[in-house]
Amino acid sequence: MPDIGFLNGRFMPLADTMVPVEDRGYQFGDGVYEVIRTYRGVPFHLEAHLARLERSAKAIHLPVTFQAREWTEYIAQGIRLAGYAESKAYIQLTRGVAPRDHLFPDGVRPTAVMTIREMRPLDPAMRAEGVGLMTVEDLRWGRCDIKSVNLLPNVMARQRAKEAGAFEAVFVRAGKVTEGAVSNVMLVRGGTLVTAPDGPHILSGVTRGIVLSLARKEGVPVEERDIGVEELRRADEVFLTGTTVEVLPVVRVDGVQVGSGKPGPLTACLSARFRGSVG
Ligand code: PLP
Repeated sequence: MPDIGFLNGRFMPLADTMVPVEDRGYQFGDGVYEVIRTYRGVPFHLEAHLARLERSAKAIHLPVTFQAREWTEYIAQGIRLAGYAESKAYIQLTRGVAPRDHLFPDGVRPTAVMTIREMRPLDPAMRAEGVGLMTVEDLRWGRCDIKSVNLLPNVMARQRAKEAGAFEAVFVRAGKVTEGAVSNVMLVRGGTLVTAPDGPHILSGVTRGIVLSLARKEGVPVEERDIGVEELRRADEVFLTGTTVEVLPVVRVDGVQVGSGKPGPLTACLSARFRGSVG
């Protein structure tokens, strides 16, 4: 049964998985989500993703209806049912179905949805040659640390980037680089790895955390601090981190070549270390 859907504890074909029109996720974007991928069929850093899901739910006062151990079992079951070599689990929790009203509804069960789809690798040429970024103004809200389903600014930014020939949009807030629309951003300058600090303006990426600890293990100096746009453009190396992009070299920012115009050596080293860590 490929492309699996899950709704409030029941599995079904994805095409049959339906949520009512008055679900608050649909009408208000009142919900949170996670994306988890497998390597060799095993969900990657599942505990970290489930912990973040719980943090996001708590931050919007959404009751937790399934505990981490239940999600762990459901994800395993979904992956088995789908039968793909590599899968991508998408979990979405919303405040449930109720007549449209901004106030939290009383006595309503949150909606828990999961989809299991095939995880396909990125085009290897992008990894080998690197990709382009486009900077855009960060118009998002002040709690980007919550993985909320309100992704319209990300959707608009990424579409703009695509139309400009870039792979990813990078948000800039008050002159500081925050993160990508679907990724975190890192740069290398004089051998030091630099990325925006954790806080309300970025999602604390699971991949970001893994790559920072791999870098520290390699003895690479790491700075988590504000980055100006010019600093990004003049970096020796730039790369993205994220569940779907993994460690992805960047060779252009706003049409301007980064470093040598080729994926840099530290990016290649961390990408190899990351690959080595995925099992
Ligand atoms: N930042 C944003 C806005 C994202 O949507 C994502 C991934 O979905 C990331 C960063 C990277 O997070 P992770 O490494 O946990 O996938």
